[in-house]
Amino acid sequence: MSSELSYVQPTANSPWGTYLSQVDRVVPYLGGLARWVETLKRPKRALIVDVPIEMDDGSIAHFEGYRVQHNMSRGPGKGGVRFHPDVTLEEVMALSAWMTVKTAAVNLPYGGAKGGIRVDPKKLSHKELEKVTRRYTSEIGIIIGPHTDIPAPDVNTNAQIMAWMMDTYSMNVGGTATGVVTGKPLHLGGSLGRVKATGRGVFVTGREAARRLGLDLRGARIAVQGFGNVGSVAAELFAEAGAKIVAVQDHTGTILNQNGLDLAGLVPASRTAGGAVSFKGGDVVPNEQFWDVDCDILIPAALEGQITAERAQKTKARLVLEGANGPTVPTADDILAERGVLVVPDVICNAGGVTVSYFEWVQDFSSFFWDEDEINVRLDRIMMNALNNIWDTADKHKITLRTATFAVACERILMARQERGLYP
Ligand code: GLU
Repeated sequence: MSSELSYVQPTANSPWGTYLSQVDRVVPYLGGLARWVETLKRPKRALIVDVPIEMDDGSIAHFEGYRVQHNMSRGPGKGGVRFHPDVTLEEVMALSAWMTVKTAAVNLPYGGAKGGIRVDPKKLSHKELEKVTRRYTSEIGIIIGPHTDIPAPDVNTNAQIMAWMMDTYSMNVGGTATGVVTGKPLHLGGSLGRVKATGRGVFVTGREAARRLGLDLRGARIAVQGFGNVGSVAAELFAEAGAKIVAVQDHTGTILNQNGLDLAGLVPASRTAGGAVSFKGGDVVPNEQFWDVDCDILIPAALEGQITAERAQKTKARLVLEGANGPTVPTADDILAERGVLVVPDVICNAGGVTVSYFEWVQDFSSFFWDEDEINVRLDRIMMNALNNIWDTADKHKITLRTATFAVACERILMARQERGLYP
């Protein structure tokens, strides 16, 4: 049976093409459940919406919005909303599918979903951003809900945007439905530890991978691409553990210092309009130089498709920690494996965010809130259990951690599919 869909034309290295190839690689390890694998190769539901708003200058602008529910076999859809000028249906489909695999890999009672708006939020005023968010929420309101599909922050979205989403949904249904989104401000049902959770999960899985490789974090050299909520938090935690952050790349460029960049100066500088390159404690170098910098650990924490075959060939890192979703294309994955570079894949490495989103959702329903220590201890335990289980699977079948994560996750998803049976 062909898994071609008429509404997207993926290529080998595009996000959905990458995801499909990752699924194909897991089929030999699924046994009888392979019969159900086609279910992973098409989203359950994809909604495209028009988001019209009146701009501050009185003109009317239209933006394209999406919400894709990839799979709900194990529970409600879960996944962030991305605001970016390059967002496409194909990208949101892949991101939603990676959420299905991610939530199953850490065994959260969720399926996978994702949303996005094709907009550059940096070009919108605060009021315009609010209007775009509210209209989008209202349009996708027919398929989201605390028990059906729960959005959260992703690239260029944050707690304020989640507050507007929660309010819009609540106004439409009448009441206050805090459980409809996660990543909310603390006083609106948000959870302690959520903002740092993705970066913390990258650190927890990276620390364990380094230990198993015999790579001492004290003095380890790290290159980080993307210095937002994921990359900067991971960098700070690794630096606290004694590592040196030798290169950082963000949307403004690449900054290098082989003696280690001073994060106390770099992090605030990167939050200004000038970005990372406005920090004076390093050399600004051409962007491509980032990929062959002398380092032990590479953390891609920006967008998809960044580690190409060529970049995989030249990286000096021994360990790649995928803070971003889908940063490595399939050909690059093979090259890294051949070269003995260990990759902790996105679907486990960056699962800390959705794990604390789950804690937030549970706290909202029980109206009882945990302290930050409890959040971090539980996060650590879930991530470590999941990673150890995946590692055992990789050792058993002599496969990469990515294929092992897909094996563990897809077995859970397809087992649920099989047990539920086909309706009607
Ligand atoms: N956007 C994050 C991710 O890609 C978090 C999703 C969530 O918390 O639901 O995993």
